Amino acid sequence: MTRHGAPIGFDTTQVFIGGQWRPCAGGRTLPLANPSDGSPLAEIARGGAADVDAAVAAAQAALGEGRDDGRGDGPAPGRGAWGALSATERGRVLSRMSALVLEQADELARLEALDVGKPLRQGRADAVALARYLEFYGGAADKVLGETIPFASGYTALTLREPHGVTAHIVPWNYPMQIIGRSVGAALAMGNACVLKPAEEACLTALAFARIAEAAGLPAGALNVVPGLGEEAGAALAAHPGIHHVSFTGSLAVGRLIQAAAARNVVPVTLELGGKSPQLVFDDADLDAALPFLVNAGIQNAGQTCSAASRILVQRGVFDTVVQRMAGRYRALRVGPAIDDLDVGPLISARQRELVAGYLELVRSGGLHVAAQAPLPATLPAGGFYVPPTLVAGVDPAHRIAQEEIFGPVQALIPFTDEAEALEIANGTPYGLVAGVWTRDGSRALRLARRLRCGQVFVNNYGAGGGIELPFGGVRHSGHGREKGFEALYGFSVLKTVAIKHD
Ligand code: NAD
Repeated sequence: MTRHGAPIGFDTTQVFIGGQWRPCAGGRTLPLANPSDGSPLAEIARGGAADVDAAVAAAQAALGEGRDDGRGDGPAPGRGAWGALSATERGRVLSRMSALVLEQADELARLEALDVGKPLRQGRADAVALARYLEFYGGAADKVLGETIPFASGYTALTLREPHGVTAHIVPWNYPMQIIGRSVGAALAMGNACVLKPAEEACLTALAFARIAEAAGLPAGALNVVPGLGEEAGAALAAHPGIHHVSFTGSLAVGRLIQAAAARNVVPVTLELGGKSPQLVFDDADLDAALPFLVNAGIQNAGQTCSAASRILVQRGVFDTVVQRMAGRYRALRVGPAIDDLDVGPLISARQRELVAGYLELVRSGGLHVAAQAPLPATLPAGGFYVPPTLVAGVDPAHRIAQEEIFGPVQALIPFTDEAEALEIANGTPYGLVAGVWTRDGSRALRLARRLRCGQVFVNNYGAGGGIELPFGGVRHSGHGREKGFEALYGFSVLKTVAIKHD
C-alpha cells in the first residue's frame, strides 16, 4: 500500500521471461522508494546474469532460433511464434498494445508519479506518447521497403530489411515509457525479439508494459523484462554474446562501457546519452511565444530530461527582459509531491539531489547571480528529494554549470552579441543533442539549423510536442544512432543484398 492509499496492483518482484512471471534466479530483490516522500514503495527483482541468459534464450526461441552463442554458427531462419508472424501481423499486435496503453494511461501516470516522482500530467503525456509510438510503429511495420538495384545485365539485384535478431534495451529512469516506446516499439515492429533492462531506480511502468504486451497477445519471448542493477543485469545484457544489437539510453560514462562491451561481440549500438542543449533567443524573437518553452524545457520532469534546455543564450538587446520574464515564471512555479500534479516534482533520489545541490553550491560559492528561485513550501514531505528550481543569469559559457549536464531544474542564462558568438557558445560543449532558435529572420534560422552541431534543431518551438515521427539522437558525447520516426526502423534492421543471375 502506498502513502496515497492505492496498491501497485501487481506483483513487482518478478522478472518476465519467455511469457512467464517468476522470481529472479536467487530470488533477491531491490527496494524502490517514492521520491516524493522517500517512503518505501515496492520491491523489485534483482535480476542477474542467469536471468539475462534465460531471457536471451527465450528471445531466441521466440524467433525460432537455435542457441546462438556468438561463436559463428549463427541463428537459423526464424519459425518461432514471433519470428513466424508477417510484418502486418506484428503491426496488429503493436496496435493492440497501443490501445491498451491508452486505456490504462491514468494508471500508468499514477505508477510513474509514485516511482519517478513525475507530476501526473507529465506522466500521462508519457503514456500517451508510448501509445503513439506503438501506433506509429505498428502502422509502419509492413511499410519498410527494400529496393531493386539497376545492375549488370542478366542479374536482378535487390535489398531486404531483416531484423537483427535479439535486441537489448537498457533504459534509464527519467522517461521509461517514452524510451521503451521508441526503442522496443521500433525493434518489435521490425521483427526483433527484445530483452529490456529497466533502471533500478524506477521500473514499475516497464513491468506494467510487459503485462500490457501479454494481454495484447504478444507471443511469449518477444519481450522479456529483467529488472536489476546496472552493473549486474545491465552489464550481463550488454556483454551477452547472444545479443545482436544494443540500444542504450543513459549516461555518458555507462554509454562508454556499453560500447566497449558491444565491440567485443562486434554488434551495433545506439547510444542516446546526455546533453547541454541550448535555446538561442535573438532580439527579434517573439518573446511571448518563446517564454513558456524557455522555462518548461528547464523544469519539465524537474530538469531530469536529456534534451533539457539547460542553457538559454540571449542576445544582449533582450537579455534583461528575458531574465526578468523568466524570473517571474520561476517565482510562480509550484513544487510538490508528484501525485499533487503541480509544476515540478522531486528529483529521483537522494543521490541525484546531492548532485544538483553540489551545482547550486558552486553557484553560491562562485557568487553567480541567481535571478530567481522557486520557493520550496514548508509543507513538503521531509523525506522527499526536492531542490528549488533555480535560474542563474549572466553565466560565463566556460563555467561548469554551463558545460556539465546537471540533470536538475537549473538553467544558465548566457548573453551574446551576435549570431557568430551565439553559434560559438552553442557549439562550445562536448555534447550535441538538441538546440532551439527563436528569431523572425528566416535566413538566420536556416543558417543556424545547418551550423548548430546537434541531432535536432527546433525553430520557434522546442521539442515539437514530443514529435515521435522525428528522428532523434545526438552527436559527439550525446551519442550516435537515431531512434524515433521511421529512421529507427532502419536502425533496428539490417540490410541484406541479394543478386540473382538469371541469364
Ligand atoms: P545511467 O547510465 O546510470 O543508467 C541508465 C541505465 O543503464 C540503467 O538501466 C542502469 O541500470 C544501466 N546501467 C548502469 N550501469 C551499467 C553498466 N555498467 N552496464 C550496463 N548497464 C548499466 O543513467 P541514468 O542516471 O539512469 O540516466 C541519466 C542519463 O541518461 C543522463 O545523462 C541523461 O541525459 C541520459 N538520457 C538520455 C536520453 C536520450 O535520449 N539521449 C534520454 C534520457 C536520459
